[in-house]
Amino acid sequence: MNPVLTLADLAAWSRPGTSLAVLGHPIKHSISPPMHNAALAELARTDARFADWEYFRFEIHPDDLPRALDLLHAKKFRGVNLTVPHKIIAFDRVAEVDPAARPVGAVNTLRWSERGWQGFNTDGYGLAAAVQATLGRDLAGAHLILLGAGGAARGAAVECLQRRCASLWIANRTAETLQTLLATLAPLADGVPFGGFLPQTPSADLPSGALVINATSAGLRDTDEPPADLTALPNIAAVYDMIYNPPQTKLLRQAEFLGLPYANGLTMLVHQGAKSLEHWSGIPAAQTAPTMLRAARAALGL
Ligand code: NDP
Repeated sequence: MNPVLTLADLAAWSRPGTSLAVLGHPIKHSISPPMHNAALAELARTDARFADWEYFRFEIHPDDLPRALDLLHAKKFRGVNLTVPHKIIAFDRVAEVDPAARPVGAVNTLRWSERGWQGFNTDGYGLAAAVQATLGRDLAGAHLILLGAGGAARGAAVECLQRRCASLWIANRTAETLQTLLATLAPLADGVPFGGFLPQTPSADLPSGALVINATSAGLRDTDEPPADLTALPNIAAVYDMIYNPPQTKLLRQAEFLGLPYANGLTMLVHQGAKSLEHWSGIPAAQTAPTMLRAARAALGL
């Protein structure tokens, strides 16, 4: 794993090759560097254009993000990934936002251009590709129950509506946050039935055969209670949990106990990363995702 770099390292940057970076606070647990560097090494074996490409990680405090983005642009980094808490802050600081990312209000991928940074959000693509790869399901045409109303849930909900899911039901423990998200999404629904409920009182209107997607952070700690009881939801078809560390949350343990197909969020991380690399390199995400998945598993000791 390459070292954790700082703003001072960036100010002194003089590497001649093509550089990519991920910025976060904290960043030390990110497995994006081994994922991307494995894919780049694989590409370089057959394509000399990638021989000098490398992906670095920077610990950047939110207060330093504007300066870091200016420096990265001046030093001509080809691309940048943003993770917690930078995705929303950076949204207002890019020269151009991909129209698909506008309703999400957050960017996780920046691409260098003469005019400034171009911003994209590949998390929604990552979720859709992961659900397809692990559970064999399309978000398009699916009934979806989304748990959570934070940043990840907003991105997921926008993707589900943009892909025209059959219906979207969102559950969150805090009613106010849920209502705010529902109001934000309303203009995007365009006829797709959608609504919200509190996890402890599932709505009677919930469809049968839905895919449950966990976009809460409940499960990151062993002591967390699951964000919903799957037996209280009608006839669930499958469960996708965005959390990948730990690899099996209590929610996924319940899915396994109930005999439901399920998958954790590692594949979402991989597919969003592969899509970022596609924005920077032009190489299709589907080509680099298998190498990234192997590297991600190795980095987590799986
Ligand atoms: P936010 O802080 O923006 O939102 C957190 C959400 O989780 C809120 O809806 C919050 O509800 C809910 N929540 C937090 N703790 C609990 C709890 N104990 N019980 C029930 N609900 C709870 O976080 P993000 O949206 O950025 O991230 C959410 C999760 O998604 C994280 O675990 C993150 O690691 C994961 N993620 C995974 C990705 C991947 O590639 N696999 C990509 C992005 C995110 P409330 O409003 O009530 O506080």
